Amino acid sequence: YIFLLLFVFQSFKQLSRPWGACQAGWRSTFSRSAPDVASHQPAEVASSFPPLQTYTEEEGMMREAVKKYAQERIAPLVSKMDENSHMDEEVIKSLFEQGLMGIEIDPEYGGTGSSFFSSILVIEELAKVDPSVAVLCDIQNTLINTLFVKLGTPAQKEKYLNRLSTDMIGSFCLSEAESGSDAFALKTRAEKHKDYYVINGSKMWISNAEHAGVFLVMANVDLSAGYRGITCFIVDRDTEGLEIGKKENKLGLRASSTCPLNFDNIKVPEKNILGEVGHGYKYAIGMLNEGRIGIAAQMLGLAQGCFDHTVPYTRQRVQFGKRIFDFQGMQHQIAHVATQIEAARLLTYNAARLKEAGRTFIKEACMAKYFSAEVATLTTSKCIEWMGGVGFTKDYPIEKYYRDCKIGEPNSTNVLGLWTTLQILACKLYIILRPLLTSPHISSRMIINVTVT
Ligand SMILES: Cc1cc2nc3c(=O)[nH]c(=O)nc-3n(C[C@H](O)[C@H](O)[C@H](O)COP(=O)(O)OP(=O)(O)OC[C@H]3O[C@@H](n4cnc5c(N)ncnc54)[C@H](O)[C@@H]3O)c2cc1C
Repeated sequence: YIFLLLFVFQSFKQLSRPWGACQAGWRSTFSRSAPDVASHQPAEVASSFPPLQTYTEEEGMMREAVKKYAQERIAPLVSKMDENSHMDEEVIKSLFEQGLMGIEIDPEYGGTGSSFFSSILVIEELAKVDPSVAVLCDIQNTLINTLFVKLGTPAQKEKYLNRLSTDMIGSFCLSEAESGSDAFALKTRAEKHKDYYVINGSKMWISNAEHAGVFLVMANVDLSAGYRGITCFIVDRDTEGLEIGKKENKLGLRASSTCPLNFDNIKVPEKNILGEVGHGYKYAIGMLNEGRIGIAAQMLGLAQGCFDHTVPYTRQRVQFGKRIFDFQGMQHQIAHVATQIEAARLLTYNAARLKEAGRTFIKEACMAKYFSAEVATLTTSKCIEWMGGVGFTKDYPIEKYYRDCKIGEPNSTNVLGLWTTLQILACKLYIILRPLLTSPHISSRMIINVTVT
């Protein structure tokens, strides 16, 4: 429906505005033709320096439509899905119907043809209502679809992009029991035979595996070459010898399935290699960088959703003859958390805009994820406190947000904190050493080598 709505909107725009025809199909552009945030400002100010929370008309429409969709179609099922540890099939079906599983995929392949920034807005809106659904949408859009779009051969695109935008979920398979943070120490092997490979090994923690129709599997074609042997294979669900194990019984994100996979002599045709042999590690690093912005959006949406559920309660609950919201001690805390959420939003949107503009964004993406995860932890913890005893019960959704946010915390299941710290340290070091660049005895190349190391 969102797809249809955007189509009608686009057609109308092209009819009513001659310049609309210049836009490539549906694609969002960076034109700030109708900034919704700054619309009350003088036109020249708005167009010269659009505020970061300025959306194109399409982005604004998409955001509103997803907000409404999530409230109507997902919210009523959240608690049941969490309790049963199962994603409702209707939710999956409706995500495809709404065009939310192929947001950036070209309409030629059945996708919505929108922008990366739109994906970020969608992930944020979904996470406000159910972070598990946001995970599903995030991995599909920012990892799986992007890899196929960037690396797929015309035949691979034809076969998979059409399905990924309409009815097929994809999973990204990197982690193994023995290689988590040290991901490129993976042991899954792919042995070449005539025009096919035989894959043996296993994977752990594979999100959405319960429902996935296709798996992007990182396997090593030459263990002696180390990470330079890692290659990305497209593996169909019905491949003989592929076994999808029992899903994990998790603390949070319970509706999002996380399963182990086993590959027992599975035969994968050579034409199912995505990209180049031995380049898998590059693709994984690249995707995980973009993926961090998606995770930042998840954490941001989660924090905002939790906050939005909690503040109305503080306005109703009366103690000592006053609404608890009216106590200054409460207001200081609420204002602090609201400010932190706003800051997380700005970091996340800035990283997304930088990525979309083709500028370097790795440091900003790391910071956005790191900060948003911290804000989500703070927000969910504070919200439970502000709700008093009921915050600790399942009568309200706050405890679920608290459980769901644990996955994003730096230093829990990733070494993001380490990477971010290294990058920030490198920047600081560079700033400290920069004056030396003018020294006739030290070349800039030497300084750059020091900071990168
Ligand atoms: C819900 C969920 C979904 C997931 N989905 C996927 C998926 O779809 N695809 C996929 O491939 N993987 C997935 N993963 C796996 C995830 O990427 C790994 O859990 C993560 O890489 C960490 O690996 P590990 O669990 O083995 O922890 P470990 O690597 O064993 O780390 C344990 C602890 O040690 C710390 N640590 C490790 N190395 C260092 C270091 N050098 N310095 C300081 N501290 C360090 C870590 O920060 C962590 O706190 C998922 C995991 C979960 C829990």
